[in-house]
Amino acid sequence: MSVRIFLLIFAVLFVTSIHAQEAKQNNNICKSSSSAAGDEKSNTQYLQQLMKQKRTRGIVSWEKRIVFPLRIGFIQAPGTPKHTRQFAISSTIDILNEAFAEANVEFYITQIDVIYTDLKIDDLSLGAYDLYDQFSKEHDIEDMISLYLFDYDDQLCKESSGGVSCGRTGGFSYILSNRTSNIVLSKFDLEDHKVVVHEFGHFFGLYHTFERDQFGRELVSGDNCATTGDIICDTPSDPGPVYEVYVNYSKCRMIGYRDAGEDVDYTPLINNYMSYYKPCFMKEYTFTPMQLEVIRAAAESPLRMRFWE
Ligand SMILES: [Zn+2]
Repeated sequence: MSVRIFLLIFAVLFVTSIHAQEAKQNNNICKSSSSAAGDEKSNTQYLQQLMKQKRTRGIVSWEKRIVFPLRIGFIQAPGTPKHTRQFAISSTIDILNEAFAEANVEFYITQIDVIYTDLKIDDLSLGAYDLYDQFSKEHDIEDMISLYLFDYDDQLCKESSGGVSCGRTGGFSYILSNRTSNIVLSKFDLEDHKVVVHEFGHFFGLYHTFERDQFGRELVSGDNCATTGDIICDTPSDPGPVYEVYVNYSKCRMIGYRDAGEDVDYTPLINNYMSYYKPCFMKEYTFTPMQLEVIRAAAESPLRMRFWE
């Protein structure tokens, strides 16, 4: 075979193999869904009622700092040496406190327990969260918020005949649920500036900005914002992370995406803690004032009062 023919065959094989190896990515920061626990909707409606009553009676005050003791559950595989990375954990809580300070809500660590199990973070959501429910039942402490730090799968990318598929879970929590009293975080994201805040946001009543399942779709005009989507009016309708290609991260804006038949473009908040977008260039993540109001109202409600200091 001449060198030229050999090179041609090699080139054809190389190009074909690149096409066969198309990568799939599933980079979910959060495994929370809007109604996995069962009591999210009723608890959300109850919280909305409380907020309404407080507003009409004019008794909204954030002067009192609400402090929550936290129990850290550090998950380890049996037989591995004890190593809790306390420095990283305290920096995680600093990140959390910085974000929740605007609602005058604070967390501090009161105890760190090492829990031995082979479970990894991605195992928990299997079978409609059965393993997670079982784990919570076994390890949650009554009247105390637990933050469980789980190991993640070493192999974040897996090869199959269809190509390479990559995925990673940052954490999750039921939304304002009484079914469990914990938040789950991957050790990968211990010092990440979004994931821990996002998951505590769920625990204190916030939905994703692109939420549609629980209360229906929020119009881009925002006309039905108080009763649909994340039921928060200062977070514009968000089509969700599938449409991320329309985001210009330097401008921190979604550009030029609208639903068929509509004449207004989506303008979701890209750098919001409860959205699914990546960090914007030189811009910090934020909660909106109304999201902070929900966090505050949840923190002082009977749903979360039992965890107070
Ligand atoms: Zn989430």
